[in-house]
Amino acid sequence: MFMNEIRSSGQFVVPGDRLGVIEEFIPDSGTYVKDGYIYSSNVGYVLIDFANKKVSVYPVARNMNVPRVNNIVAGWVASVQSTHATVQIIKVGRKFLSGRFTGIIHISDVSHRYLDNMYDAFRMGDLIRARVVSDKNKTYHLTTKDENLGVLYAFCSQCGDILIKRRRLRCRACGNIEKRKITSDYGKGIL
Ligand SMILES: [Zn+2]
Repeated sequence: MFMNEIRSSGQFVVPGDRLGVIEEFIPDSGTYVKDGYIYSSNVGYVLIDFANKKVSVYPVARNMNVPRVNNIVAGWVASVQSTHATVQIIKVGRKFLSGRFTGIIHISDVSHRYLDNMYDAFRMGDLIRARVVSDKNKTYHLTTKDENLGVLYAFCSQCGDILIKRRRLRCRACGNIEKRKITSDYGKGIL
């Protein structure tokens, strides 16, 4: 009966989820005990230390949902200026973020090729993929210096419709031709 109550390591739990009984495990961090049962006090993942018979819950916020150096992130271009663009990061790896994180791409980090106009690389509203190069002072500096990094989807600055990649990027509605620093898989639907 008790075995059915016990969770396994790596299982996702929320506060109040039952983890086990005090006869089986020593409640550790991220847990509380009520009426002989051990419950999670965190949103996170169960860690069971069988050697020491300890159960704890590793909080989600500690190791996830925060961009880290070298992570591949996806986001929307929020603004473009002459020397940099700001990005609203919405995804780290395969995981969507719950909090708000803003990244910055400096013009020198856009491409291996020299770029003299930031507007030839990004426009507001573009969906991009980038890599985090620094997170000093909670500012996420991003780079798109790789063929699989850059704009995934771009939108026409004249009419807002989607730009289709043929030989060049062309608006499917109005035919406007635009420039971007695109990914090698531009428009393929992979975030
Ligand atoms: Zn257009």
